[in-house]
Amino acid sequence: MLSVSEACARILEAFQPVEPQTVPLARAAGRILSSEITAGTDIPPFDYSSVDGFALKVADNSVGRTLRVRADIRAGTSSDIVIHPGECARIMTGAPIPDGAEAVIMVEDTDFNYHAPRQPAPQTVIIHKAVHLGENVRRRGEDLHIGDIALSHGIRVRAQEMGLLAMLGKSEVHVYRRPRLALLSGGDELLPVEVDLIPGKIHESNSYALATLAEASGVELVQLGVATDNEEDIRSRLEKAVQAKVDVIVSSAGVSVGAFDYVRSVVEARGELNFWKVNMRPGKPLVFGKYRNIPFFGLPGNPVSAFIGFEVFVKPALRKLGGLSESPRLKQKAILGQPIESDGRESYLRAEVSEENGQLVARLTGHQGSGNIFSLVRANALLIVPSGVKSLPASSEVEIWPIT
Ligand code: AMP
Ligand code: MG
Repeated sequence: MLSVSEACARILEAFQPVEPQTVPLARAAGRILSSEITAGTDIPPFDYSSVDGFALKVADNSVGRTLRVRADIRAGTSSDIVIHPGECARIMTGAPIPDGAEAVIMVEDTDFNYHAPRQPAPQTVIIHKAVHLGENVRRRGEDLHIGDIALSHGIRVRAQEMGLLAMLGKSEVHVYRRPRLALLSGGDELLPVEVDLIPGKIHESNSYALATLAEASGVELVQLGVATDNEEDIRSRLEKAVQAKVDVIVSSAGVSVGAFDYVRSVVEARGELNFWKVNMRPGKPLVFGKYRNIPFFGLPGNPVSAFIGFEVFVKPALRKLGGLSESPRLKQKAILGQPIESDGRESYLRAEVSEENGQLVARLTGHQGSGNIFSLVRANALLIVPSGVKSLPASSEVEIWPIT
């Protein structure tokens, strides 16, 4: 049977990044850059004062010295005055440093009464503290020089990138289009959340959990609803995904060997199966293929298996599809707080990881059955038991994936 890593490799082969588009900066947050960003200006673009104070020459800044105030420089202005020995200029935070000045002394370090609001600049000012060359001056290009690579291709735009893009004056940004993902659930036992339970039925939950995972990955969702255990219903819903021109279809349930598990045959009839079993726990039945040329994931129906299948297989595919540069999951290690039994399959167990005496300790959160969503709710990480391992004593080192 296919190993998890072989399955992942086959899946990734089937995906290529979607095409780029241009969006206004205000809509770029969370998107993936489709091209590198080069600085078109120095950042900052001119030398400026980082404090409210007086711009002066360092030779003039001995304690007790009186300087003549030549000018008053506000933020947003530019002047061509030149500071000579014995002179200074009052200057506000963010205002350009005048020629000739070499440092800025904070107003608090002078005799000027800065507590009174909106005072005009004084005629003279007395220095109370020496400042060194360049003190309180932010230099042009100190952050970035014109022509520097500011942001690389394939990164997700976070708050700080938004700030930098704005500083660089990028009013439009090239990003990858948001991939479109169609989500299908299925099973005769499933009732919508709005309806009271009756014997034999349960509330449909995968569409909510998987939609949340999908949206966190930055895709646009197309909900195909809940199919009954019936080939025609499954097929007609999949056809809606084709009409909606989605980039990927994720379905849950109906991929096992039950008498009414039709998903596999429907996909096979109008597409191709790549594989339908992976040597893992939970979630051994897992279909990957294409429905009419659209990559198709058939996750197992059990809520925990579906969640883990999404984390392990769908997420990396969505990263590639969305244009994110290869940056593998940050691997974290923890120490087992208890012994663990496994069945030799690569296992993704629900665990709570906490810091104890400076190290991360992982403990299982309870029932590991693939339907027990409550232990997943109590978990903050998946704990990975490698294939071939049947038991691990307490204090063994294990890999964990934080789940947020
Ligand atoms: P299946 O993969 O169709 O054999 O389903 C496996 C288990 O998952 C069954 O107990 C189903 O009732 C349950 N299940 C399947 N789909 C969903 C869903 N969308 N929401 C909640 N439970 C589900
Ligand atoms: Mg079913």
